Amino acid sequence: MSPSEHLAALSRDFHRRGWALGTSGNFSAVISLEPLRIAITASSLDKSRLAAEDILEIDGDGNVVAPSTGRPSAETLLHVAIVRALNAGAVLHTHSVWSTILSDYHRGSGGFFIEGYEMLKGLEGVKTHEHREWVPIVENSQDMQALAAETRSMLEENPRIHGFLIRRHGMYTWGKDLQEAARHVEILEFLLESVGRRQMMEPQH
Ligand SMILES: [Zn+2]
Repeated sequence: MSPSEHLAALSRDFHRRGWALGTSGNFSAVISLEPLRIAITASSLDKSRLAAEDILEIDGDGNVVAPSTGRPSAETLLHVAIVRALNAGAVLHTHSVWSTILSDYHRGSGGFFIEGYEMLKGLEGVKTHEHREWVPIVENSQDMQALAAETRSMLEENPRIHGFLIRRHGMYTWGKDLQEAARHVEILEFLLESVGRRQMMEPQH
């Protein structure tokens, strides 16, 4: 499967699972490093019907290289920032219910820990359920240059995380390739839902 076919299939799958409803979410994969070229989902297209022709190729500044028509997602700069900061081979951004709720609920502490869950072992490099995974929360903004700059400094401070949330917006995760990044979406979405549902059982103050 080509990167475009893989990204389109993954978009349709994530839509079906409620993680990228409507036109929300965007997904990318590095296709070459020198020069940097990234395949990324085009903006404003329904994820339930995405096809390989709807995937664009961009350069390291977020400009479209091919095809000449089609608009990249507004969040393209965040994908480029994550690829450059972490040498990621793929970056996936979902708009799930649980990432939206938890990014709002924990905004005061700038993030939250997920710990003690067996499913943490699905994250690359994690060997035990005793792992403590910090999930930072970045404030949402429509100024993508500012959001990309904030993301870069947050990743410098937290180089070992597997994902982060944008407040009342969604989640970003990545991997060395699309397969690993897609696994991280599944694992993190499971963990976010578990943490969220568990918190709903706690007494309210
Ligand atoms: Zn988004």
